[in-house]
This record gives sequence, structure tokens and C-alpha cells, in this order.
Amino acid sequence: MSLLKTAQPLFAEEVLVELEVGELRIPVQRQSRKTVALHVLRDGSFEIRAPNRLPLGVIRSFVHSRRDWLQERLDSLEAGEGALALQYHDGAIHHFLGEPYKLKLMAATRWFASVGDGEIRLATNKIDELSVCKALQKFYLREAEIRLPERVAFWHRRLFNRDLPELKFRAMRSRWGSCASHGGITLNISLLRAPLPAIDYVVVHELCHLQHFDHSPAFHALVGSVLPDWKGRAELLTVPCGF
Ligand SMILES: [Zn+2]
Repeated sequence: MSLLKTAQPLFAEEVLVELEVGELRIPVQRQSRKTVALHVLRDGSFEIRAPNRLPLGVIRSFVHSRRDWLQERLDSLEAGEGALALQYHDGAIHHFLGEPYKLKLMAATRWFASVGDGEIRLATNKIDELSVCKALQKFYLREAEIRLPERVAFWHRRLFNRDLPELKFRAMRSRWGSCASHGGITLNISLLRAPLPAIDYVVVHELCHLQHFDHSPAFHALVGSVLPDWKGRAELLTVPCGF
């Protein structure tokens, strides 16, 4: 488990902090409260709520003590969201923009992917589970690079009058997106499995973290200002998150 990442000096009262636990970065929200708590949010992400003046060392020890619990949550997220149920044989079903498609596999020396007529056609040099999984990730990455910058730019314009954040795409096992304290946004390529209204919700969610680095009422008010129906959209995120 790697540790602290701070945007400001540790002793500033309004400090923005993320604790790093494996590939997770957990935002710490300071509140006028007496105890530390680790929360799982409805989007499956975690948040630490801690008293305003509690030293970071104490918060860090607390998260260390809950490490096994965190790992269990992550494991069950992966299993529960169907990642283990994904199959990579010819005819297996994979979703794209909310619609189911049959995988049509072809052996070829060069990678190739296209989507249409109910099929995702995929050419790889080897047709085994790992090669097909990788080829499929490449397909989702390409589609993310084609389709998502436009969604990010659209919602960013609706929310802010400033420069676009740095945008990256990755396969992530347990999160749909993340926003770093330096302002970069990473989106999970598996988002392309979800319908567009759900994709837009994740985009807006991460963009709003540029303004509010927590899940406070102010954060949700900002999300709701452009997506009043965000809760319904979040419920559409039923496709598997990982590969
Ligand atoms: Zn969030």
C-alpha cells in the first residue's frame, strides 16, 4: 500500500488529500465530526470522512487497519459486477453503447475490429482467451479515444469556463473514472459498454470533481445542475467494469 498524496501542506485546514491503497485513491473529506469512517459510495468508489483537525497519520493508520475489508470490497465488486462472467469465445456477448453484440472472431496477422449488425468483429493473430481479451480491450480503447473526448468537451463547456483537463483512458477493475488532485481525468474504457446517458453521467461526475474533490452536497448540486436525472443514469451502469 502506498501512502499519501497531498495537494497542499499537511497542516492547512482545507487540505485536499488522497490516500493511495493499491490502485485505489481514496479522497479524504474533512468534516466537523468526531470519528473517522470509510464509506462506499453508490458508484462503488470509496471516501474517508474524518474530523477536521485529526492528524493524517491517524487517518492513515485507520485505513491500514481496514485494508483487508477494502480488499474484500474490491474483490466482491469485481466478482459482483460480472467481470468473471465475461467470456472471450466466438459468439460470446459483449456490450457496446448499451447494446449486446456477438463476438465474431477471425485469425489474422494484424489486429482489426469493427462493430455493426449485432456483431463485434475482431481479428487477432491468436484466438485464445488472453489474446481475444487484449484485442477487445484495444477495440474499447479505440472507441473511447474516438467518442469520449467530445463528451468531455461538451460537458466541460456546460460546467466551466476554463481549459480542458488532461484526459486519459485505461482499463480499470473497480472504477468507472477518476479525477486526480492535479486535475487530470481518467476514464475506464469499459464505459463504452454502457449506454450514452450513463457514460455522460460518469463524465459529468469526474468533471465536477475538478470543482469539489469529495461527494459533498455541493458536489451533487453541481452534478445535478447539468444532469438533474443523474441518479437514474447511474443506475444504468450495470455492465461489467473490468475485463
Ligand atoms: Zn466521485
